[in-house]
Amino acid sequence: MTSPKSVDDRLKDAVGPKGFSQDPAEIAPHLEEWRGKYKGHTRLLLKPATTAEVSAALRICQETGTRLVTQGGNTGLVGGQIPLGGEVLLSTHRLNRIRHLDESGMTLAVEAGVTLAAVQQRAADHGLLFPLSLASEGSATLGGNIATNAGGTHVLRYGMTRALVLGLEVVLASGVVLEMMRALPKDNSGYDLKQLFIGSEGTLGVITAATLRLFPRPDAVVTALAAVPSPAAALKLLGALQAHTGGMLSAFELMPRLAMELITRHVEGTRDPLSAPSPWYVLIEASGGRDSNLAASLESGLADVVAGGLVSDAVVASSAAQAAGLWKLRENISEAQKREGASIKHDISVPVAAIPDFLAKATPAVLALLPGARPVSFGHLGDGNLHFNFNSPAAGDDPSFLAQWDEVQQVVHDMVKEFGGSISAEHGIGAMKVASLPRYKSHEELDAMRAIKHAFDPKNILNPGKTVPPVLRL
Ligand code: FAD
Ligand code: ZN
Repeated sequence: MTSPKSVDDRLKDAVGPKGFSQDPAEIAPHLEEWRGKYKGHTRLLLKPATTAEVSAALRICQETGTRLVTQGGNTGLVGGQIPLGGEVLLSTHRLNRIRHLDESGMTLAVEAGVTLAAVQQRAADHGLLFPLSLASEGSATLGGNIATNAGGTHVLRYGMTRALVLGLEVVLASGVVLEMMRALPKDNSGYDLKQLFIGSEGTLGVITAATLRLFPRPDAVVTALAAVPSPAAALKLLGALQAHTGGMLSAFELMPRLAMELITRHVEGTRDPLSAPSPWYVLIEASGGRDSNLAASLESGLADVVAGGLVSDAVVASSAAQAAGLWKLRENISEAQKREGASIKHDISVPVAAIPDFLAKATPAVLALLPGARPVSFGHLGDGNLHFNFNSPAAGDDPSFLAQWDEVQQVVHDMVKEFGGSISAEHGIGAMKVASLPRYKSHEELDAMRAIKHAFDPKNILNPGKTVPPVLRL
């Protein structure tokens, strides 16, 4: 009599010989995330290549109560993709086919493991635009973008990932495949189920494919860097330029002087394009059609605000290379912070108009806890979203500084709540914020989240312990 197969053997059979690994060297890079904050362990890495294989694997997981964490590009910043409890790890990197591009309908059907950069490129090859843009786009996958409802630098114009997804294919914990790849901008035929999975961080199902919305590619893209004395001036500049260009801004990113210094110190090929240092900068992008005269419009708008004293200096990129140079400054802030040493980070949002007051109140509150810390608050001012970050007083590793993360985070998040904001603007909850979420969301909202989780994953096998706080028993 043959003994029954182990769960792991059944899972391996479900995905075929190329679809798994137990080689520690192959698994290692999947166990640690970009910031080195979370380290996990697993006995089995699954690498399914088809939706049917994902479904077969989940059927076994559900039946046997085997817990599973889904991972895309492993660029998530809240530990959601790391198997912290020794779960089986499912990597989507072999679900990497571009299924169909509909040029006239401007839609693109892709599998979850395709990188964001590859999606952008495919759209560009057809003269179209997929506007989601993140500094991690070379590695981050569409599945990960959708699971985290990623934001990035073009939300101001095009919205979060949620606004860019028309259809989804999802494998539920039970192995059932929800085929919802409809390419319809308008579809009110009952609950919009795909929206539940967007931003669910791997807790409700495994996303295997999506139908994305594409846009006309703007022929005129104008990029500028403006020096401003304060966040309040930056906010006024936002209003002035939106009015001046008739709402054509596609990015409006704030950064402080220290960010400029760290980037030019640590990132090769970068330089400060302005002649005098400024306390704050804004990276501005406007985009429109060939005949929109956008460069002239942005330049005259900037000339007006320079003359009015709102902006002390500004440079408008005169070539694609110059524009890329300006974007390189913005996109390397996180990398430069990392190379400088330890930093404590927050991904918060408040109503756009409250950004200056929030910075004025929260920055000294953190400095009272972390004397000498160096604020590097930057981000998507046009969306009310700041990466409210602090580097340690001196360069290099500083474990005692990082040990204060939780204490500092609570002070910051309490203040965010006071301002009517969110403790996670774009990175999600994952492992990092799940314990503190009950402090900031009502019982009623949390109960509704738990009810949804229970309906889709009654055995709690998908990304357990992440994103959905357990009920506290007193
Ligand atoms: P992973 O890190 O692998 O996973 C993230 C979460 O999604 C996990 O909970 C995981 O379980 C789940 N998941 C992944 N794939 C699937 C799937 N197919 N089905 C179900 N669940 C899945 N984020 C922003 O929003 N805006 C930014 O501007 C931004 N900038 C960044 C810059 C840098 C330098 C880095 C390192 C990260 C940045 N991020 C940003 C965070 C990160 O890139 C995004 O969260 C991204 O969407 C994650 O994609 P991923 O494929 O790497 O997902
Ligand atoms: Zn961001």
